Amino acid sequence: LSEVIRQRAWVEIDLSALSHNVVQIKQLLSPKTALMAVVKADAYGHGAIAVAQTVLEAGANALAVATLGEGIELREAGITAPILILGAINTPEEIAAIAHWNIEPTLCDPQQAIIFSQTLSQWEKPLSVHLKLDTGMSRLGMPWHQGTEFASLVKKLPYLKLNSVYSHLATADDPDRTNMYLQHKRFKTAISQLKAQGVKPPRLHFANSAATLIAPQLHYDLVRVGLGLYGLYPAPHLRSIVSLKPVLQVKAKITQIKTIPANTGVSYGYQFVSDRPMKIAVVGIGYADGVPRQLSNRLQVLIKGQRACQIGAITMDQLMLDVSHLRHLKVGDTVTLIGQDGNQEITANHWATMLGTISWEILCGFKHRLPRIKK
Ligand code: PLP
Repeated sequence: LSEVIRQRAWVEIDLSALSHNVVQIKQLLSPKTALMAVVKADAYGHGAIAVAQTVLEAGANALAVATLGEGIELREAGITAPILILGAINTPEEIAAIAHWNIEPTLCDPQQAIIFSQTLSQWEKPLSVHLKLDTGMSRLGMPWHQGTEFASLVKKLPYLKLNSVYSHLATADDPDRTNMYLQHKRFKTAISQLKAQGVKPPRLHFANSAATLIAPQLHYDLVRVGLGLYGLYPAPHLRSIVSLKPVLQVKAKITQIKTIPANTGVSYGYQFVSDRPMKIAVVGIGYADGVPRQLSNRLQVLIKGQRACQIGAITMDQLMLDVSHLRHLKVGDTVTLIGQDGNQEITANHWATMLGTISWEILCGFKHRLPRIKK
């Protein structure tokens, strides 16, 4: 079946590039710092199970997901490494499942911690938990200045085993490090207050990809790396620090080639009208696969090592290219939308820049309709 599916459009996942990135990132860490691979959102669209297996083999020590379902998917695939859920878990049903699958939750609120402890007491089953402090992201987490009371409560509650205290950075990819250092100062203050009250978290963690690249003093006991594993840089100024390889490529096949006369509208709404006779190629990929429609008339692709411009509105399942300048093309030829062909390269970051968004969103946008082909 996969051979048949591959005829239209697909995502190629280069697992050796993924392993390379793990090794490169580990080289930035001291031996006492563990690597937690962030594999939420189906490993940023790369396919969570294969990514998790590969990064663990390459030296990652633990995994992080956003939801319980993502954690269970990994456990069902036989993955036994520690799994932290970065998102919130609140209900007794979820807590029962977490305990059953031996997945580790994030606690960010006293009421939530009490529900956890009460629910776990039914089975007398202790659970390893991670406390999240909000040091300036203003997202999930206990406000950092209330961290001591929170941690003391968790320490007292039966069946909760404190595994780590962590926080998340809001601006680590900004060349101006002021906010990052302010968050770090708050984290350090919160931790020293905790320790003064006799709460000694076994582990501390703070760094995402950007902070892992630029700030060794933020590495602590483990770093939580997402984007970097997938071979992309959180910001251009971080490129020189480590040599990463993009893991994902998006490819599709030409399904028809034809000539259109001058003054011919192309695709819905005739946003593009030919100013000369043109050779166009129809390609079997569209916005339902994750190629944003906003890229219509701006997208470039690679064919046989050369660039071609996309013309007219991108449709749900197909898009058109101006291939007037390309010789010897045929139906079935491969078009690279993201990836390398010859000495040309288009990255998710190029799309993100054109769209005024971030690479993370582009990677997560490729739909399941595109089979993930591993190589
Ligand atoms: N830690 C937390 C709590 C996150 O939410 C994320 C991702 O959004 C990461 C770490 C990894 O971030 P990055 O992809 O920038 O490495």
